[in-house]
Amino acid sequence: MGFTNSDLHSSLKKYFGFSQFKGLQEKVIQNILENKDTFVIMPTGGGKSLCYQLPAIMKEGTSIVVSPLIALMKNQVDAIRGVSEHHGIAHVLNSSLTKTEVKQVKEDISSGITKLLYVAPESLTKEENIEFLKGVPLSFVAVDEAHCISEWGHDFRPEYRNLKSIINRLGENIPIIGLTATATPKVQEDIIKNLGMTDAKVFKASFNRPNLFYEVRPKTQNVDADIIRFVKQNQGKSGIIYCLSRKRVEELAQVLQVNGVSAVPYHAGFDAKTRSKYQDMFLMEEVDVVVATIAFGMGIDKPDVRFVIHHDIPKSIESYYQETGRAGRDGGEGHCLAFYAYKDVEKLEKFMSGKPVAEQEIGNALLQEIVAYAETSMSRRKFILHYFGENFDAVNGDGANMDDNARNPKKKEEAKDEVVK
Ligand code: ADP
Ligand code: MG
Repeated sequence: MGFTNSDLHSSLKKYFGFSQFKGLQEKVIQNILENKDTFVIMPTGGGKSLCYQLPAIMKEGTSIVVSPLIALMKNQVDAIRGVSEHHGIAHVLNSSLTKTEVKQVKEDISSGITKLLYVAPESLTKEENIEFLKGVPLSFVAVDEAHCISEWGHDFRPEYRNLKSIINRLGENIPIIGLTATATPKVQEDIIKNLGMTDAKVFKASFNRPNLFYEVRPKTQNVDADIIRFVKQNQGKSGIIYCLSRKRVEELAQVLQVNGVSAVPYHAGFDAKTRSKYQDMFLMEEVDVVVATIAFGMGIDKPDVRFVIHHDIPKSIESYYQETGRAGRDGGEGHCLAFYAYKDVEKLEKFMSGKPVAEQEIGNALLQEIVAYAETSMSRRKFILHYFGENFDAVNGDGANMDDNARNPKKKEEAKDEVVK
């Protein structure tokens, strides 16, 4: 069953209402339609879901989508149900379903209505589910958030490690699609190895965000004053300030308020109602600034965040990239300012000291990379992209002039002295 490019475009329009593919989507989808293993690496917001949803709808059989979070699955299923007259086009199979619901899901799969079956890895491990799925035509298995397979990723889930052996039991030569926004070569190697995807075609989008300006400043006792000054210079603009601890979040939010900045705090210690109140105040622009722990941001899609400040250095370059990535989504200005003091690194090391040795080793290695980023005199953008295995031309590349080091080159020693004091 061959599909032409015009089939692809008309399905895109028909099912999703879009007139154009984004980035590498079309190439990815063509590869999947040819039943080949496919590895997709695209930044968050790049449009990875469509890469498997569209071919799933177009192909014979049911696709299995492995996803780590029930909330993520529910969102996707609701969205996909909107594109078809059949509610059963997408289902979630998990342990919270009643017997009747499970029966309905299985019926929809058997009758070929279901094109996307979302499962958590735990559900896929269940013998009864494996037995059932063995007997139905499957188009492919998509492993979303595939970095969960790797201890080097930010969200390791041991259950992801068993996926390959389960997929093997579901049938012969079922194509596998791995998708992630984690661009580090180590994580990618783990994914390829664990999912047995050595022959997969790899589609990697650039992680360069040319509209973001990267800056690192030494963190002194006056960090609060420095932050207040920065925010006041950017009055009326939306910004996020990340702090490591909940206590610091509350203190800094208060300090900002006292200084006439409209700010709210946000961390996982507040109850759900308070959290969503503060989040909405930020989204609705009743306040300019949210001071938050990393609990804030997942799934937040405010396009005009103009700055992201890190009061404390994050635990890896990848975290830093994800967190700063919330700035400038609309393509406009996005200032990413990190305050850095080596003693904060020691604090992070101490946090890890109770953890298993292997985890500590990985954590420390990641930490050394972010230290190197903070202390580098190289173009920050080049440094980040190099970390993601990407070459960046610091002279002519897109965004070449958009970081402190690129604008004010300084000698290495000078840079270090500044940080030490
Ligand atoms: P990712 O999983 O890579 O983070 P998503 O799949 O959640 O990204 O997609 C991000 C957003 O992009 C969604 O709102 C989605 O509807 C939108 N999107 C995806 N593909 C297209 C397209 N071809 N045209 C316009 N918008 C798209
Ligand atoms: Mg996604």
